[in-house]
Amino acid sequence: MIYKFVEELLAYLLQKNLISEDEITWARNTLLFALKLERQANPIIYKGKIAQNPSEILGKISAWAGKNNLLPADTKTYRDNFETYLISLFTLRPSELNEKFFNLYKKNPKKATDFLYKYFKNNYYIKTDRIAKNIVWKQKTKSGNLEMAINLSKPEKDPKEIALQLQQPKNPSSLPKCFLCMENEGFAGTINYASKQNLRLIKLNLNGENFYFQYSPYSYYDEHSIVFSEKHYPMEINAKTLNNLLEFVEKFPHYFIGSNAELPIVGGSILTHNHYQAGRHNFALDNAKEEYKFKLKRFPAVKAQIVKWPMNTIRLIGAKEQVALAGAYILNKWRNYNDKSVNLFAKTGKTQHSTITPIARRQNKNFVLDLILRNNKDAIFHTHEERHNIKRENIGLIEALGLAVLPGRLESEFAQIAQILKKKNIEKLQDLSSTAQHYNWVKSFINKYPNYHKNPEEILLKETALTFENMLKDCAIFKDTEQGKNAFKRFIKTL
Ligand SMILES: [Zn+2]
Repeated sequence: MIYKFVEELLAYLLQKNLISEDEITWARNTLLFALKLERQANPIIYKGKIAQNPSEILGKISAWAGKNNLLPADTKTYRDNFETYLISLFTLRPSELNEKFFNLYKKNPKKATDFLYKYFKNNYYIKTDRIAKNIVWKQKTKSGNLEMAINLSKPEKDPKEIALQLQQPKNPSSLPKCFLCMENEGFAGTINYASKQNLRLIKLNLNGENFYFQYSPYSYYDEHSIVFSEKHYPMEINAKTLNNLLEFVEKFPHYFIGSNAELPIVGGSILTHNHYQAGRHNFALDNAKEEYKFKLKRFPAVKAQIVKWPMNTIRLIGAKEQVALAGAYILNKWRNYNDKSVNLFAKTGKTQHSTITPIARRQNKNFVLDLILRNNKDAIFHTHEERHNIKRENIGLIEALGLAVLPGRLESEFAQIAQILKKKNIEKLQDLSSTAQHYNWVKSFINKYPNYHKNPEEILLKETALTFENMLKDCAIFKDTEQGKNAFKRFIKTL
């Protein structure tokens, strides 16, 4: 069987142009050596159907390798890492890929990213088969069409593997400093660490500093990409950040790019390495309309507006340099602005609490910069506790754009709730720990649906989206009330 699998993988590589016709013999011999197999005099060429995704054929080979003692132990991570190793044998070297990318870029930036995105799907860096497992839906709300995803793409650990991980001697210097560092390029991985052997980085220069561009293996949206600094240093939001974002969309006009805030609670999951997230996707925030205009005295050429969006968002539109300067000016004002009437304190002592989540994109010739006002001090500016049954984690950049990435546990919890609701026995939700945390939440909306027992699954998804909308509102500093709106206007006046 294994020889048949080898031929099937060769057929896949050929179909995806990861090898050429002339390279089949070399590729076959390379694979046989990697699998410690003897060569066959007359290989039987694979003539069957070729899958669009290599996961299945790689899975068959790594399962064989696990059973035939080619792996340190037969666990999920070792199998995954072995699959990555096999496909990396047929992945271009970084310099070759950069050359191809920039040759296309010279013709057209979109052609370059189209090529690269396809390339990383073909070489299985982007795990399209796992992404496809996510539960995704859209929901119309007063804040626009919100996008929702229950994230099931990250592989679950098996108990055998957890035991092996515990036995591993801890030597942090043997691993890259963090998951983003460029030292990951080609790293073979360990039982604790996913292999990056098929990862290649595209080198970019933003305002004189070296950055790298890559796609995310578990995309949450179209062409989800990551741009990170060559040096490992903490996240920062300052004038330079805004310049870098605008420079990126000057280079890639068909992409947006944003940065998580640099402070805990309002930032992303990695605060130790400066990075941005980009991609080619239209989010609910992009489509959000103007609530009102205002004038920036110092920057008359920049159009400034407050956007109709649950989180407090200032939108600047204009030429690149002017937008960058206006953005930096507002950022500086915001970092030092206090308003006791809404419990806003920019700092306590030397600790900074106010910051922004910035997002840049193009609108024809113009540059658009959205500045989402954030403050990490008070619990009133974060997801309120009554909504933690849906998500406890930070509301970061992607959520702020209108795409909820929700924990995988919701899949089974919602299935249990639906079973109970079908029997019209709401009180029973309190019996199980997994459903008890949702009891008050379900009670809060269930009376809106007299026939809820007929389609509880649908109702749960809809209400989750409405709850997400409320989570975004929770994060607003200036709430959607008379008092909040007036306070927002007071801040705008200082600009
Ligand atoms: Zn790093």
